[in-house]
Amino acid sequence: MRIENDPKLDFRDVLIRPKRSTLGSRAHVDVERSFRFPHTGAEWKGFPLIAANMDVVGTMAMARALRKHGAMVALHKHYDAEALIAFFREPESANAFYSLGTTEADHDKLKAVHAQSPISKICLDVANGYTEKFVDTVKATRAAFPDAAIMAGNVVTGDMTEALILAGADIVKVGIGPGSVCTTRKMTGVGYPQLSAIIECADAAHGLKGLVCGDGGLTVPGDVAKAYGGGADFVMMGGMLAGHDECEGEIRYEERDGEKVPVAMVFYGMSSDTAMHKYSGGVAKYRASEGKTVEVPYRGPVEGTMQEIMGGVRSAMTYIGAVYLKEMSKRTTFIMVGAQLNTVFGN
Ligand code: 5GP
Repeated sequence: MRIENDPKLDFRDVLIRPKRSTLGSRAHVDVERSFRFPHTGAEWKGFPLIAANMDVVGTMAMARALRKHGAMVALHKHYDAEALIAFFREPESANAFYSLGTTEADHDKLKAVHAQSPISKICLDVANGYTEKFVDTVKATRAAFPDAAIMAGNVVTGDMTEALILAGADIVKVGIGPGSVCTTRKMTGVGYPQLSAIIECADAAHGLKGLVCGDGGLTVPGDVAKAYGGGADFVMMGGMLAGHDECEGEIRYEERDGEKVPVAMVFYGMSSDTAMHKYSGGVAKYRASEGKTVEVPYRGPVEGTMQEIMGGVRSAMTYIGAVYLKEMSKRTTFIMVGAQLNTVFGN
């Protein structure tokens, strides 16, 4: 047994210190970034936010809506091949990732869809990216799809970030346990405070010209700013995008003044009982569910939430004098406030 003593940080443990700048208004900052994917050389430009490949938020409707903001979606894994073939023929699919796991069936389906509608972005997603099998899957996918941008994860440490980039990933997905409907930390005791995971993995990835996507644990626009400040090239979110018209899922209505109005939507982890009953006929005997099911308030079109997130990031950039989003991590100084905040928020 070993103990690591240096403190590891979550979003709530820090704030971003304001800095003097000549920037006049948040209208003068640019929240777009452009990246070159290291394995393909292809360039991508947009607002680096990705809707998670959870079946409630990783939808085709979300992809169409977020594309208007230059943002992306990792589609959930449960669309059938026909729907995917039709979708990837639409120009709106340009910012969408095709998501899959490591099974043979997953990869056969990807090949079948790709044969009909070429796929340019692939998200290889497993809960635990530390297995040899996963590294082999990344290598095999890179060999089979030399021209596709590959995002792979999840991991939380620099060594494994490097291993995945060397195996063929352009973007490494970072996060074990921070998700809003994730119970991994409770069920297994495994995890890593998300801001530190982002900082450490970004440092490792950038040394190899790779990219990272901070996945999970973002609860407010300020967390998104902190993730970019910590070095995340992309962020991925589920909970913050749940409850919108573009989501797929049950809506709960209430009678108000004789009218039926939507008030809440169901949102659940992809390894929750709810998801496992829906897609795998129940929870397999050898595993426990590592996700929960919650209700989130119904919030109408995702447009309003995107404006809030982008507005928050713009404002954070103004506070620290970053004209371009890519300057954000250089201009960020975090101050540790964990103890005080925990008292304020009662965590
Ligand atoms: P959120 O933005 O809701 O905080 O986190 C979204 C992320 O949580 C997803 O992108 C995924 O990495 C993770 N996640 C989704 N479902 C589950 C689950 O059932 N269990 C665990 N451990 N993580 C999940």
